[in-house]
Amino acid sequence: MSSAPASLAETPVTTLKGVGPKNAERLARLGIDSVQDLLFHLPVRYQDRTRIVPIGSLRPGDQAVIQGDVELADIRYGRRRSLLVRLADGSGSITLRFFHFSAAQQANMTRGACLRCFGEVRNGPQSYELVHPEVQYVADGEPAAVEQALTPIYPTTEGMHQLTWRDLSARALDQLQRGGLQELLPDSVLAERHMPPLAAAVRLLHRPPPEESQRLLSAAGHPAQRRLAFEELLAHQLSLRVLRRRQRQRGAPALSGDGRLQRALLDALPFTLTDAQQRVLAQIEGDLGQQHPALRLVQGDVGSGKTIVAALAALACIEAGHQVALMAPTELLAEQHLRNFRDWLVPLGLDVGWLSGRNKGKRRAVTVDALADGSLPLVVGTHALFQDDVVFARLGLVIVDEQHRFGVHQRLALREKGAGQQVPHQIVMTATPIPRTLAMTAYADLDLSVIDELPPGRTPVSTVVVADGRRDRVVERVALACREGRQAYWVCTLIEESEALQAQAAEDTAAALADALEGLRVGLVHGRLKAADKEAVMGAFKDAQIDLLVATTVVEVGVDVPNASLMVIENAERLGLSQLHQLRGRVGRGAQQSHCVLLYHPPLGEVAQERLGVMRETSDGFEIARRDLEIRGPGEVLGTRQTGEMQFRIADLLRDQDMVADVQALADRLLDEHPERVAPLIHRWIGHKVQYAGV
Ligand code: ADP
Ligand code: MG
Repeated sequence: MSSAPASLAETPVTTLKGVGPKNAERLARLGIDSVQDLLFHLPVRYQDRTRIVPIGSLRPGDQAVIQGDVELADIRYGRRRSLLVRLADGSGSITLRFFHFSAAQQANMTRGACLRCFGEVRNGPQSYELVHPEVQYVADGEPAAVEQALTPIYPTTEGMHQLTWRDLSARALDQLQRGGLQELLPDSVLAERHMPPLAAAVRLLHRPPPEESQRLLSAAGHPAQRRLAFEELLAHQLSLRVLRRRQRQRGAPALSGDGRLQRALLDALPFTLTDAQQRVLAQIEGDLGQQHPALRLVQGDVGSGKTIVAALAALACIEAGHQVALMAPTELLAEQHLRNFRDWLVPLGLDVGWLSGRNKGKRRAVTVDALADGSLPLVVGTHALFQDDVVFARLGLVIVDEQHRFGVHQRLALREKGAGQQVPHQIVMTATPIPRTLAMTAYADLDLSVIDELPPGRTPVSTVVVADGRRDRVVERVALACREGRQAYWVCTLIEESEALQAQAAEDTAAALADALEGLRVGLVHGRLKAADKEAVMGAFKDAQIDLLVATTVVEVGVDVPNASLMVIENAERLGLSQLHQLRGRVGRGAQQSHCVLLYHPPLGEVAQERLGVMRETSDGFEIARRDLEIRGPGEVLGTRQTGEMQFRIADLLRDQDMVADVQALADRLLDEHPERVAPLIHRWIGHKVQYAGV
């Protein structure tokens, strides 16, 4: 009698022999709950223990199995007591070195004994050496068998040894033999791509036969690895598509304004929109006119003028009788938006509300009431906009600035603030240009617009990299610029995460600079200041009542003061590329030539050197993003590392980017042709991590 094999996804690892409570807990730490999870926990590399290598052919760095006879065994009393054993096999000889050894081990390794060893070859003082190799005693005339497959080395956690991993994966593979791992990719899909079936790919990766190229495996370019990465990318893509489709099924108010307010604002502006701004605005207006909720990502390099586009989009919504919520990730940035929007909208007779965590009591109540009764057309704020008691009478549009700091879930939460069954349209703005392949994967649930043009008359910021030993010269330079009527930023960075320490450092720097720069007005802004104080300082800087603004990295995002033309960044070597780019983007906003000084503390590490070099070479945000991706990897670039949203188990967006376009096309095809496979795919790869309810 045969029954269908139990699904390995539903089979807890604890059913495997060898998984008691302790190991279960260790496995859980790595997110391994089911036998299927265990099968998807792939080796990071492999050792070749399938053949015995002649000692004479070894090179430093090789990991190899050797076998030979002990010629000499000797205890040395140097700095550390050690047992040295010379092993020879006719092709050459090598030294085995042990710092810890028992009397029994020593007794076994006497002249004439035959040993088989595995270890990594190193350069020793006299000859090549294996330090603490694994040793097997070979009894006379009894050739012990070698391994049949490459030996997998698993990513591990405290307390789990490689032997345990091998043992557990062997048991899981035994179960796999009986089925239970459903193939979810259609045969035709596999055939077209010359990809192996799932079970075969998994089996191969856990126990590769000796002839599989190790090099291919460790670079993750093996068809079996690509097969799994492909399926994972596909699942991810599908989950976002499903979200998007579901989103499109909801209703949204179709908004079309009469252009009256927009025209009034445009007439009042001292500039005209760039072609790119007009194009993106038109795309947004197209979205707003639809009866299903828009979700659009607007990318634009720092200084490309996203704010005015957001304001004009907001006006279109207000003209159509609906409300707008504008959300920013930091208080400082939200305050700046507030100031801009008030400058622009109050003259048009529109009220602009404010909600932040620090805004409490009566003032907050007034704003909340006005949103609920619909009398307040627009509110600017931080996460505080999410609070439960914030209810809108007619929310039509949500604008989120600097998306990379928010996750998918927050994106969805604000959406639920719409009235009744209706969902507001949503625009997400980011100044972090995201390389296309990455954007297509990370934001597959969004439409994409790019403001790919800077307003005219901008001159690229000239950037120099200076060792902090020449700090005095930099201070002179600040003095010079300020005396010519220009303004400067001085950004302090600290490794310490603590806001208090950062604030302290900025205070010290500000005091020292104020001393050195007699007669100049030095301001200070950091995360510990009260909102009102921060706003006052930023306002004074904007009004040119402050010459030099000393700041922590709070000025990173969005701050806009066109007369500032010099930016000094201390300890620039500690910052990532995108953060440097954001900071530098605070200058170069006016017509005059701007400068950026990247101060570093020598010696410079290799990565830091590369980063600062990139900053000197280019000011193109997309190019910088591309280089950043190479240096840091996708998780960091998207800023989602902590949230785990973009953490893949097997796929790697940088390495596997060539598959992204294919994955996208296939996602559509699967949704149309094999809809029944979609939910299981999502469930297999991300279901337990992200709750896409009801998928
Ligand atoms: P970001 O895209 O980085 O948010 P901002 O919206 O802060 O950029 O705009 C940067 C600066 O450029 C602001 O001072 C803004 O008023 C100005 N600006 C925006 N659009 C134009 C334009 N078309 N022509 C000239 N200046 C513009
Ligand atoms: Mg901005």
